[in-house]
Amino acid sequence: MAKKFNIEVVEKWCKGCGLCIAICPKKVLELNDKVKCVAVRSEDCIGCRQCENTCPDLAVTVKECE
Ligand code: SF4
Ligand code: SF4
Repeated sequence: MAKKFNIEVVEKWCKGCGLCIAICPKKVLELNDKVKCVAVRSEDCIGCRQCENTCPDLAVTVKECE
């Protein structure tokens, strides 16, 4: 079975720069109406952690689901 991942964003740390959204190869992330990053397609996440590594504010954490 394919692995599942949970993408957590600390909303108060996100400044809405969109870098994580641009780098995600699976288009998992989007900005919401508060201009904060949210995972809208976490089922497509492949766990590459590029979003986590790219965020200048360390707002994103990717965790493998148990
Ligand atoms: S871990 Fe990779 S696939 Fe998953 S949301 Fe982050 S950049 Fe996208
Ligand atoms: S890279 Fe970080 S600060 Fe920028 S939109 Fe993504 S979560 Fe927010």
